[in-house]
Amino acid sequence: MTRFSELNLDPKVLEAVSEAGYDRPTPIQEQAIPPALEGRDVLGIAQTGTGKTAAFVLPLVNKLGRGRARARMPRSLVLCPTRELAAQVAEAFDTYAVKTKLTRALLIGGVAFGEQDKLIDRGVDVLIATPGRLLDHFERGKLLLQGVQVMVVDEADRMLDMGFIPDIERIFQLTPFTRQTLFFSATMAPEIERITNTFLQAPVRVEVARQATASETIAQELITFKPSRKDRAASEKRSNLRRVIAQEGDALRNAIIFCNRKIDVDAVAKSLKQAGLDAAPIHGDLDQGVRTRTLDGFRDGTLKLLVASDVAARGLDIPDVSHVINFDVPTHPEDYVHRIGRTGRAGREGKAITLALPADDKHVDAIEKLLQAELPRKDPPEAEPRRPAPGARDGSAPVAADAPAAGKAAAETADKPAAETADKPAAEKADKPARKPAAKRPRKQPETTAAAADASGAMAAEATDAPAESAAQERPAATPARSRRAQGGGKPRRDEPVVGMGDHVPEFLTRSFQPQTTD
Ligand code: AMP
Repeated sequence: MTRFSELNLDPKVLEAVSEAGYDRPTPIQEQAIPPALEGRDVLGIAQTGTGKTAAFVLPLVNKLGRGRARARMPRSLVLCPTRELAAQVAEAFDTYAVKTKLTRALLIGGVAFGEQDKLIDRGVDVLIATPGRLLDHFERGKLLLQGVQVMVVDEADRMLDMGFIPDIERIFQLTPFTRQTLFFSATMAPEIERITNTFLQAPVRVEVARQATASETIAQELITFKPSRKDRAASEKRSNLRRVIAQEGDALRNAIIFCNRKIDVDAVAKSLKQAGLDAAPIHGDLDQGVRTRTLDGFRDGTLKLLVASDVAARGLDIPDVSHVINFDVPTHPEDYVHRIGRTGRAGREGKAITLALPADDKHVDAIEKLLQAELPRKDPPEAEPRRPAPGARDGSAPVAADAPAAGKAAAETADKPAAETADKPAAEKADKPARKPAAKRPRKQPETTAAAADASGAMAAEATDAPAESAAQERPAATPARSRRAQGGGKPRRDEPVVGMGDHVPEFLTRSFQPQTTD
């Protein structure tokens, strides 16, 4: 087995590696570092968690050790699909370059241009950027790319998903032909193959086995339930999610909850918060400061539940996550592997629970085909017996046990079915600004604004057709009480059956009374 000391790395780099606590290079490092140090182009096919970041940062630091940065002409470029990933690469650079005087700048959306301009003006050795923000700087005339000696593309497959490939091609064309390219992707889609054929020169192809399709330390569960009505699927799923979390008890120290669409990330986080749980959303439309704070909170344990989109959570290295919950079955089976790989890391035990609807069968099949294993099935958790809301005088249905009475109205609002708004990866474009001078650009990206408008519109729509949803969703559809309310009716009548309470109907629910007005 190779040691770092056998890889021809500079003593300063070796010192940093040893301070980082690494004993030996990982397979991708072992294979990619030597050709990268020789100046060869490298095509690395590896996922996050394999040590691929160090596989390109170590040779980069080594190579840049000699020479000096010139104003506005970075000597190397690392392109990442998301802000979080770029920030993570910057952190890795700081670790591995700690014994050197190399400088770096992080160019990501959602951060003011001014500070970034200053750094670039001074001259940096490494520019770590999302493609959109990099091109923005370039178009503002603040950045020259002729000095780039090494260009790294990280997570190219995710760039493809996000629609960044044209930007990447353009950036390739803006850098010198003589540059060295280190190109990393978890998969080799035909479009990625095309790019590498066009822009890499006789690359050394290094490939590490896909991360064991599912680590043996991850216990998996699939919970399929049939919604009582199609338009209630989302709200019933949110109830099920809360029950799953409750059922896991103390074993659930923290969890990443994945949704397929940004609008659901917001709705799920809101519903969990309103049920008194410690949850926060993260997706591409959120302000960068908020995203950073949320992630920091999750990393340091002050935030328990992180509700995320695939793109926002992609590549994040959070070592100790006890649970991953798929609020939605991912539509790409590879995403399932990526998602559940957030738990059970470094030999720790982890649990991955997937909530599914019958309509998700084909996606479940695709996942099982990829895993070459069947996901263990589990029944949906039982609803806790409901208790009446204290002071419930209007005869509305009792509050579900998993929505505290105090937060009932709010929880109901959070549990209305969300409007189905497409959230394709390409829509997650907070990192892909329109190519306009900053001064003329609206504060928010058009796509972002549209998505936000959709979301708030959906919330507003949800709030209007509100009553007693959280209890209603536990009840068979179209009960007399529900259809009465749907017609704008008010209090219950003695002759109407109270549905859903078995033999234990609290006496006050069958009593008639006069409502009191307070204003
Ligand atoms: P990455 O795949 O780059 O996201 O890296 C995943 C994790 O592996 C990070 O937490 C790194 O700090 C860690 N790591 C990278 N290289 C090594 C190594 N040679 N030995 C142990 N841990 C490593």
